[in-house]
Amino acid sequence: MISLKKIKTYMYCPLKLYYEDNIHENEIKNERYEAGKRIKEIRLDIQDLIQRNLKRLNRNMDLKRIEQELNKNINYYINNQLNEIYDPEKYDIEDIEKYKNDLMQESKYNIQLLSLKSKRLMDLTNENGHNITERLFPTAMYNYILRDPELEITGIAEKIEIIQGKYYPIIFKTSIPPIKGVWDSDAIELAFTSILIEEEFETEVYVGFVDYVNIGERRPAVIDANLRKSLFRKIDYVRTILYNKEIPTAKYDLNKCKNCEFKDICLDDYENPIEI
Ligand code: SF4
Repeated sequence: MISLKKIKTYMYCPLKLYYEDNIHENEIKNERYEAGKRIKEIRLDIQDLIQRNLKRLNRNMDLKRIEQELNKNINYYINNQLNEIYDPEKYDIEDIEKYKNDLMQESKYNIQLLSLKSKRLMDLTNENGHNITERLFPTAMYNYILRDPELEITGIAEKIEIIQGKYYPIIFKTSIPPIKGVWDSDAIELAFTSILIEEEFETEVYVGFVDYVNIGERRPAVIDANLRKSLFRKIDYVRTILYNKEIPTAKYDLNKCKNCEFKDICLDDYENPIEI
C-alpha cells in the first residue's frame, strides 16, 4: 500500500523517499518526524480546548474578557505537553523551547482572530458561545484512517469537516503560504485524502482546504481532474521507487536539505555535493 506519508516524502524529495525505504530504520533515527507528529497532535488538542472555551462565552462579555476566556488553560497545556515529550537523549532543550514558543505565538494570534469573530457573531445573532460554536466549527472527524484497497493507497485524514452532508478534507500547515492559492505539495496531499474520502464515504469531494496556522488563514484547493491526474502520476513514481528500487533524481534545495536526516549520505553519494 502506498501511504500518504510516502507521497509527502516524495513531494519533499524523491531521493529522501528512496533512502527512507532502503536504509534500516535504526540507522537513522527520525526524531524530527516523531516530534512533528506529536506537535500536530498537540495542535489538534489546542483546537479542541479553544472550542470548549468558546462554548462558555456569554454574549454580554466584552472583547478583552472573550480573549481571556478563550485563552484559558492553553499555555498551561502547551507547557505541560512539551515538558512531557522532552527527552534529553532525543531533543535539544532549545528545540523544545522553540516548539513551545511557536505554539504559544500561533495560539495567541489565532485566539485574537477568533475573539473578534466571536464578538461580532454574538452581537449580530444575539446568541451565546454555545450556539455560535457550531457556526464557527462544523462537525468534524480528526485523524481518520482511510484506505482504498483497489488503488492500494492509505492515509490518515488530519481533519474532515462535514457540512450539509458534504465532506471537506482539511490539512494544517505551518509554512508561509504562497502569494496565491496553496503550495503544489499541499494540493497533492488534499487530492490524495479526497480520493480516500470518496472511497470510504461513497461521496464526491470537489474542494479541500489548507489551514496555514501561522497566519490563521484557510485557503481552498479545487480537487479537479488535472490535480487528480498529477497525483496519479506521483503515485506511479512512488511505486517505481518503492517496488522497482529505482534511484530517483535528488531535488536539491538548501532549505530542505539542511533539515534532512540523510544529508550526510547524500553528500557522500554525489560527485558534486551541495554545500549545506
Ligand atoms: S539531503 Fe536533500 S537531496 Fe539529499 S535526500 Fe535529503 S532532501 Fe533529498
